[in-house]
Amino acid sequence: MQKPVILFTSLVKTVMLASLPTLMVLTLYVVLGLFELSHFFFAYIGVLLSSIVIVYPFLISVNALTNYVNDLAQDKKVEAPNLSVLNTVEKLSEALKRFNRSWERKKQQMENIIIEREILVDTIPDILIMLDNDNRVVRTNRAARTIFGQNLAKKPLRDIIHNETMLGALYAVVEDMRGRQVEFRIEHPTPYDFRAIIERFPVPSTGGISTIITLTDITELKRGEQMRADFVANASHEIRTPLASIIGFIETIQGPAKDDPEAQVQFLKLMNDQAQRMSRLVQDLLTLSKVEVDVSKAPMDKVNLVKVVRREVQHFEWAAQQKKMNIRIDVRDELPAVKGEEGELAQVVHNLVGNAIKYGTAGTEVTVGIRLSSSLPSSAGMRSYERAVCLSVRDKGEGIPKEHIPRLTERFYRVDSARTRKVGGTGLGLAIVKHIITRHRGAMMIDSVVGKGSVFSVYLPLYEEG
Ligand code: ADP
Repeated sequence: MQKPVILFTSLVKTVMLASLPTLMVLTLYVVLGLFELSHFFFAYIGVLLSSIVIVYPFLISVNALTNYVNDLAQDKKVEAPNLSVLNTVEKLSEALKRFNRSWERKKQQMENIIIEREILVDTIPDILIMLDNDNRVVRTNRAARTIFGQNLAKKPLRDIIHNETMLGALYAVVEDMRGRQVEFRIEHPTPYDFRAIIERFPVPSTGGISTIITLTDITELKRGEQMRADFVANASHEIRTPLASIIGFIETIQGPAKDDPEAQVQFLKLMNDQAQRMSRLVQDLLTLSKVEVDVSKAPMDKVNLVKVVRREVQHFEWAAQQKKMNIRIDVRDELPAVKGEEGELAQVVHNLVGNAIKYGTAGTEVTVGIRLSSSLPSSAGMRSYERAVCLSVRDKGEGIPKEHIPRLTERFYRVDSARTRKVGGTGLGLAIVKHIITRHRGAMMIDSVVGKGSVFSVYLPLYEEG
């Protein structure tokens, strides 16, 4: 609101100005003697009063309009004033109202665009960090805050990412304005491998952003690469060892044992053992690669697990007899069928029963139990089921020390390499079991007590008709 004093001063000024021509004419009349001085005063006062009556509402309207425009300029939400006194001013006020409405619409659109961009930036799974000219954080997205913490604004990037490769690349981009891509690893707050793309704006944005860093989490990719490299190295090593033995035996038979038939028979037997070992290894590698390829497709066939177990156990009768062991199948209830692929489930039974005989103590019993279970392990694969069929293979052997249990299903992992090789193990059997069970959306549990024995339990989803 304009102050009353100011309003009064403008009123006086405007009235004086408006009555100036009349004053001049009246003065001329007086000078020429056409008008008496007393009439002059009355006439002028009359002019002044009528000017006030005309000018006052006009001034009030202008005053209200000024206030209205001031309020709009300050983004205040105000009603347009009533300016019906003067037609032209009212038109101006209408124009201002229209301008205000369109400005409000534009403002709303801009706010919507900002909100949309905010959501977009936040939902990007990659980490976004925007920096100012001094490499301090201006903005981040949700992924960045999840990994590096909430209060990142204004922090220098070097306080958030402590990695020389990344910082070196950033400084180089700042210097020569050319975007770069680097891969780096951080250990804090948790270990991560990242691929960073660093881009520089030619001029800082209105929000003060000069550089944008996008970080993609490539931890899994790196782990996969490492695993593949390790796998190739391990597989080559596993094959090279028996191959080197066979080559050694051949050289011996061709050289020093050339004329020694007894030694030749002995070496041929050793060569056969090594060739068998290579053959088992190649077979297991092929099985593993086959189940790995199919791991995302859950098998859907109806499988009678009891039948599969009875058939597989028969294959081990001879091996069990050699160690004076007995294999007992323990099936108490009438069991529902499981959902899966018969060949792969036979492989699971084969590997678990085979291990129980290999690592079980001679003269003891191996028990293969099959039952319906409603207390299921909390692993991801089992969460959606209420009941499952549980296959357990129990042996009375040396058992496995606790620290080894989590790693048993890794490829080529062995608790005791020398012993495993002696019993003909490839180190791939449990890796194959784990992959098959994962593909079947099942779960596997290993319990073992050193000196007493081990139980390998596998949970499989039930087959549902239709
Ligand atoms: P392998 O072909 O060598 O038996 P696995 O993947 O089947 O390979 O097993 C990995 C390792 O786990 C074995 O080398 C052995 O040390 C241990 N292991 C597996 N089953 C048993 C068991 N029933 N009792 C004791 N140790 C076992």
